[in-house]
Amino acid sequence: MKKVRKGDKMELIDPRQMLTAVVDAAPVCLCVLDSQGRVVMAEGSSFPEIGLLTDAITGTPAETVWDGYDTLTRAMRGALDGDPATATVVAGDRALEARFLPVAGDGGTSHVVAVVSDVTARYAGMVQIPAREEFLQGILDTVVDGIITIDELGLIRDFNPAAAEIFGYHPSEVVGKRVDMLMPEPHRSAHDGYIQRYIETGVGMAVGTRREISGLRKDGTVFPMEVSISELKVGEHRHFTGIVRDITERKEAERALRASEERYALAARGANDGLWDWDLDRNTIYFSQRWKAMLGCEEHDIGNSPDEWLDRIHQEDVARFCADVEAHLQGRTATFKSEYRIRGRSGEILRMLARGVAVRDEQGRPYRMAGSQADITDQKRAEERLIHDALHDALTGLPNRTLLCERLGQALARIRRNPDQKFALAVLNLDRFRVVNESLGHNAGDDLLAAVARRLENRLRPGHTLARLGADNFGILVEDIASPKDARTEVERLNKAISEPFTMHGREVFTSSRIGIVFGTPTYNAADEMVRDAELTMSRVKRDGIARIRVFDKKLHSEAVGIMQTETDLRKAIEQQRLIVYYQPIVALATGRVAGFEALARLDHPQRGIVPPSEFIGVAEETGLIVPLCQKVMSDACAQTAEWQRRFGLEGRLTVSVNLSARNVVDDGLFAMTEGVLAESGLTPKNLRVEITESLMMTNPGLIARVLGRLKSLGVGLALDDFGTGYSSFSHLRRFPLDTLKIDRSFVIRMISEARDQELVRIIIMLAHTLGLDVIAEGVETAAHVEGLLNLRCEYAQGFHYAAPLPADEAEDMLLRQGAG
Ligand code: C2E
Ligand code: CA
Ligand code: CA
Repeated sequence: MKKVRKGDKMELIDPRQMLTAVVDAAPVCLCVLDSQGRVVMAEGSSFPEIGLLTDAITGTPAETVWDGYDTLTRAMRGALDGDPATATVVAGDRALEARFLPVAGDGGTSHVVAVVSDVTARYAGMVQIPAREEFLQGILDTVVDGIITIDELGLIRDFNPAAAEIFGYHPSEVVGKRVDMLMPEPHRSAHDGYIQRYIETGVGMAVGTRREISGLRKDGTVFPMEVSISELKVGEHRHFTGIVRDITERKEAERALRASEERYALAARGANDGLWDWDLDRNTIYFSQRWKAMLGCEEHDIGNSPDEWLDRIHQEDVARFCADVEAHLQGRTATFKSEYRIRGRSGEILRMLARGVAVRDEQGRPYRMAGSQADITDQKRAEERLIHDALHDALTGLPNRTLLCERLGQALARIRRNPDQKFALAVLNLDRFRVVNESLGHNAGDDLLAAVARRLENRLRPGHTLARLGADNFGILVEDIASPKDARTEVERLNKAISEPFTMHGREVFTSSRIGIVFGTPTYNAADEMVRDAELTMSRVKRDGIARIRVFDKKLHSEAVGIMQTETDLRKAIEQQRLIVYYQPIVALATGRVAGFEALARLDHPQRGIVPPSEFIGVAEETGLIVPLCQKVMSDACAQTAEWQRRFGLEGRLTVSVNLSARNVVDDGLFAMTEGVLAESGLTPKNLRVEITESLMMTNPGLIARVLGRLKSLGVGLALDDFGTGYSSFSHLRRFPLDTLKIDRSFVIRMISEARDQELVRIIIMLAHTLGLDVIAEGVETAAHVEGLLNLRCEYAQGFHYAAPLPADEAEDMLLRQGAG
């Protein structure tokens, strides 16, 4: 081993020369920079790849030498600040490393020494790339995907023609540059240090997966691209190959597909519905052919502006429609839904229901709204028809009771707010309507009602409401009147209109009306209370039969309340067995013995005591309670009489009279009831006598004769009550199967004082006898009456002279006193 020893041929070597020699021997450049970063000297190999030429650059700022290699500049600045730094750059096909060392001076770093060396050999893989170049190049040039190779510094190493086409750069413009130049701003900053971090930690880069990110073209446009990155390890170095695909078209196609899928779904919803698709960004709407056809329009009649829609929507509905759209776009409704009227091509108004849903981007901003439009005109019409039918009378087409009450309710609400908003309700009933119905038939009756409705309607002042309340009752709501007098004048005018003749089926028919009026007051709680009072007033007018028009007043009201009270009492009485029977004896004039009783109803009121029938028979007839009442009286009376017959040995000889009202006679159950009562009590049918009044008999003689005939067939006796008070004549009496005639008390009373009446009674009794009828004189109060009647050969007498109607036990005492018979 040869050693150089100290002193052997030692010559002085200039250190600078020696340095130059060392530097020259190695592929290194030694570079000294001053404190401003300017090149003071450069010795050794030139590195033209980064602009470092050792013979030409003295005095120039280093940054301008290696312009574009930011990493070098950054490392140099670090060294100028006192920190040694190393930077590696790829330039051309070479990898260069620069180490910057600060040299401390008085005021900080005075110089920086940079050693730049070629470290390409370290990147063995890269050295090999050229070896495979031809093979690879063939692939790279022909594939349609962009292929970009970057090294671990993030610098682009290779850029194939497809990539050039995608990004719009020539490869020479990008090779050696940082890859993030191909990314739009947000991605670029995110990419900073990305590869380095990946290499250090193994996370953060989508190696082996495919992902969609945005790319930036040379012309500045951003486009969607799909990138898959694979890592290539060569020795201890890595580089990355990205396969880049421009997916702009695919994205478009996807969006279009989504759109058409949604549209298809909408279409499937109903082939009958029109479709619309609103591009909110461009503010255009696609209207389907069906959408246009629904309005009677051709394809070309309607463009794609939203105004095509809005301008056709009914003025009154447009604001609500827009509000519905807004509500959905702002996310306040889950789906868009709006009902509106729209004008068709020929001006007709159609009812439509639009439904839709907005499509939103990632930020939730709606960019599109699509949906359907359904024609609901028929459905709406049907609904309206239903509502109309529910509120109108089918025969006359007038509002019905329900609608009248609704309007009345509104008028009541108004008068409660403002007492000056006066109004009145009139209820009008036709006279003799039943006569028309019965004599000319129901069709004629219907026609008359319709004709009356038309006439009233024509004469009605605007703003008033005419309604049919049922049967031949009409209601008239008279509004906006200054005083009650105005309402009366108006009603009188309508009343007059009714009395003009109607022509029905070729003949003139006269009718007239009876009217009850009630004035609106804030004290009414509900509309039907007012209707009730008006109807009550009208029925009073009818019953009294004198006036044609009457105004409801307090007295009528208290009467009505009384009637209601009576009805309640009566119902309770029937339920609680408080309806009792009094018995008034009917005496055989010849013997002075009790031949039978008239059963007379009484109400045993818990507060008022015994209530006479004058106070409740009328109400019982009006409410129908007369039917259970009659049954009660008849069954009690028959049971009682049968019992008395047995007890006093009067079998077959004691008779009981029961009164029938008109309602009882027309009641279908009368016959069965009578039959049942007789069977249950065991009373011989001929000992039951029913009494009907003369006036009742004359209301419908045919019907009454039939009913009485049936009762008669049971063996029941028939008496004509109150004879002489009606208008019947003896000739009529023949039609009825009567047994007994009861002369009304008014004749008996006058019989003594007025000779003429005595004569009349004589004739009645005589004629009754010639018809084979027994005679009972009612209201016999004195011995003189008894004597007179005996002279006239009257068979029986009933009256206070013998006894008033008596409770059962007192009547029984009478039977007891007179002894068995
Ligand atoms: P009515 O059938 O004419 O009954 C006779 C009425 O005359 C009874 O009145 C009786 O108390 C009264 N009266 C009898 N004798 C005299 C007399 O000498 N002088 C005077 N001033 N009056 C006498 P009441 O019991 O008050 O009955 C009144 C009316 O009530 C009856 O008249 C009858 O029309 C009706 N009524 C009573 N009970 C019933 C019933 O159960 N069913 C039906 N439908 N009506 C009844
Ligand atoms: Ca009677
Ligand atoms: Ca009578």
